[in-house]
Amino acid sequence: MNERAARLRKEGRDIIPLSLGEPDFHTAENIKAAGRTAIENNFTKYTASDGCAELKVAILDKLRRENGLNLAVDEVVVGNGAKILILAALFSVIDSRDEVLIPSPYWVSYPDLVDLAGGVPTFAPTTEATGFKVTAEILESLLNKNTKALILNSPNNPTGAVYTREELRLLGSVLKNWSDVWIVTDDLYEHLVYSKHKAATFAEAVPELSNRTITINGFSKGYVMTGWRLGFAAGPKDALKTMRGFLSQMHGSPNSIAQAAGVVALNGDQSFIERNLATLRARRDIFVQRAREIPGLTLIEPDGTFYAFPGCAGMINRRSCGGRLLATDNDVVEALLEEAGVAALPGCVFGTSAHLRISYAIDTALLIEGMNRVAGFAGALR
Ligand code: PLP
Repeated sequence: MNERAARLRKEGRDIIPLSLGEPDFHTAENIKAAGRTAIENNFTKYTASDGCAELKVAILDKLRRENGLNLAVDEVVVGNGAKILILAALFSVIDSRDEVLIPSPYWVSYPDLVDLAGGVPTFAPTTEATGFKVTAEILESLLNKNTKALILNSPNNPTGAVYTREELRLLGSVLKNWSDVWIVTDDLYEHLVYSKHKAATFAEAVPELSNRTITINGFSKGYVMTGWRLGFAAGPKDALKTMRGFLSQMHGSPNSIAQAAGVVALNGDQSFIERNLATLRARRDIFVQRAREIPGLTLIEPDGTFYAFPGCAGMINRRSCGGRLLATDNDVVEALLEEAGVAALPGCVFGTSAHLRISYAIDTALLIEGMNRVAGFAGALR
């Protein structure tokens, strides 16, 4: 969708991209400077395949400081982004045809990553009624003897849902009875939380299951470093040993320049995170207020990330001003793009139809204009 929106813009069409999957801010100056210094100092060679020592120490400090996890150096690995680390974790803990349970709505890549690792994705559907969070009851009803892993993503892409520590503990109380099941947590949006409580991570909330929890995190979103391709994983050393073997064959070693920048991202001034968050919070509030006024949309307020996942069932089976029949959320997205010049993503690609994924990682004036266009589109439906 982003590529299509960019192409249309190039052709002169006025498209507002409410579909972006990365912050619209820039990497902080001190982090960029660290990258430049790394080049100047010829820190441009292979590093250890699981990351350079200085970055691993910075990651251990971060995990202790922010997440209450006290780990040893052989309990972390660095990789070129969270995505390949999720794949490495799956390769490490599942065998061919093992099932991996994924709460839906989910980040689009999870089913494909499970598939690539030889597993079978299964889904735990969630709805607005539980704030798009999987509950202990849902989990209990879906775990079975073939389930070998659960992927937990909080703060969540696409819904913005954030699990509380208590909610994670309730999930833990079910999982403790399933000793074959690994928990792979994707904490990539950890710093983008609007409520007073910071995001809890499963390994800290449920320490008794830390011997089968792999925590994935990275620099892409909170540190605004999507293009640097840097992430890390933490967990039991045997599982990480397998991940190390996988990663060393897949990418040799993580990018040295990005690693040098990553050290400064973790150890340096953190104030940009709060500043960016304040901007995102203001946009989130504008979005929520506006979305609630638009006929055909329903919304639960996102607590984190820079996404919202409004329901669009009220638009389905109606006809757009341009005469399109909106039979699915895909049709809604198509009509929004073609008739209103707004790019959004359909819920169906996140495993949950009759929804839209809207990203407010966009300049505030454009966000307002985009929402005005969606309102105009909705008001003209027949
Ligand atoms: N996990 C989630 C939930 C994401 O939304 C994304 C990217 O959009 C990733 C992982 C991938 O992160 P990275 O850029 O570090 O590979």
